[in-house]
Amino acid sequence: MNALAQRLARPELLDLEVYQSARRIGGQGDIWINANESPFNNTDLVGVNRYPECQPPALIDAYSRYSKVPNNCILTGRGADEAIEILIRTFCSPGIDTITTFGPTYGMYAISAKTANVAVNALQLTDDFQLPTDYMAQIDKGLNSKIVFICNPNNPTGSVIARDELIKVIDSNPQQLVVIDEAYIEFSPEYSVADLVANKSNLVVLRTLSKAFALAGARCGFLLANPDIIDMCMRVIAPYPVPLPVSELAVQALSPDGLATMQAQVDEMNQQGQRLTQALQAYGAKVEKAHGNYVLAQFNDKQTVQQKLTLAGVIARSYNDKRLANCIRFSFSNQAQTDYLIGLFSAPNE
Ligand code: PMP
Repeated sequence: MNALAQRLARPELLDLEVYQSARRIGGQGDIWINANESPFNNTDLVGVNRYPECQPPALIDAYSRYSKVPNNCILTGRGADEAIEILIRTFCSPGIDTITTFGPTYGMYAISAKTANVAVNALQLTDDFQLPTDYMAQIDKGLNSKIVFICNPNNPTGSVIARDELIKVIDSNPQQLVVIDEAYIEFSPEYSVADLVANKSNLVVLRTLSKAFALAGARCGFLLANPDIIDMCMRVIAPYPVPLPVSELAVQALSPDGLATMQAQVDEMNQQGQRLTQALQAYGAKVEKAHGNYVLAQFNDKQTVQQKLTLAGVIARSYNDKRLANCIRFSFSNQAQTDYLIGLFSAPNE
C-alpha cells in the first residue's frame, strides 16, 4: 500500500470492511440468488433486473483506451461531482481537515467540503486568473489541508494554468492530494496532466462525459489516480454508482464513432465560441480567452445586457462572487443559437 494514500485517508477507513455488493463477490454459476434481485426482466434492456458491476469493465476499458490511462488508475461514478465528494469523504476528517481552492472557481469543491464539515482554505487566483506567486506559502497555511483543488480549464473564467506550473504544484506538495479538475479538457487537450497519474502518487485528475461528450443527463464521470488512491476511494463509493443504461450510453460515446462525433462537435462549439467572443468584444465587453466551452464576459452595462437576454429568452450565468459582479458566462452552442445571440449583441440597446 502506498504510504501517501494510506497516510492521507481518514483513519477509520483503513480497517473498514468494504460492503460486499452482489457483483463484487460474484463467483461462477448461472443461478443468481445472492442479492435479492428479481429473476424477471420486464424490459428490453438485458440484465436490468440485476445489479450492475460497481466498476463496469467495458466502461473502464473504453475510458482507458480513450484517455490512455491504465485501467487500474480509473474509477467511474455519477459525474465528476460524485468524484469530488468521494475524495473529500475519503481523505478529509470532518471537523479536522481542510481543502484548498483557488477562486473564482467551480462551486462544488466548497459545497462538498462544507456539507461534510470540512473547512475550505479559499485562496484567490490573481487578476489574470493564475496561481498567486506565493501560493505555496498560502497552501501551507491551510492547516491540515489534505486536498488542493485546481480547475483546469477553470470554470467560470475559462483561463488555464500551464502544465509546467501544475507539475510544480504537484511536485512541491507531496503531502497533499493535488486534484486537477479536467471537466473541460477536450476543448483544450494540450493542458491535460492525465498522462502523469500513474507516476505521481499525489495527483488526481477528474473527468466527465457531461461536457464534450454531450451526456450531462446520464451522469458519468471519472477519477484518475494511482491504484492506491483508487483503492481508498473504493471503500467510500456507493456499491452501484453507474446504472446499467448509463454505462451502455457511455461505452457508445467512447467508441470510435462516438469519439469522432465528440471531436466534430468540440470543433463546432469552439468555432461558434470564437464567433460569439468576437461579437461580445465588438459590443464592448471585456472577454477572457476561452479554453472551455464557455466564455466569461465583463460588461460596463451588465444590467442592460441581463435585461436584453431575459427579454430574448436567453438563460446565461451570473455570479454572486464579488470579483465577477459585472460578468456573465455564456456556454458555446450550435450555429443557430449563436447567430441569434450575435444578433442580440449587434442590435442597439433600447
Ligand atoms: N467540474 C467542473 C469544473 C464543472 O464545471 C462541472 C459541471 N458544471 C463538474 C465538475 C461536474 O461535472 P459532472 O456533470 O460530471 O458532475
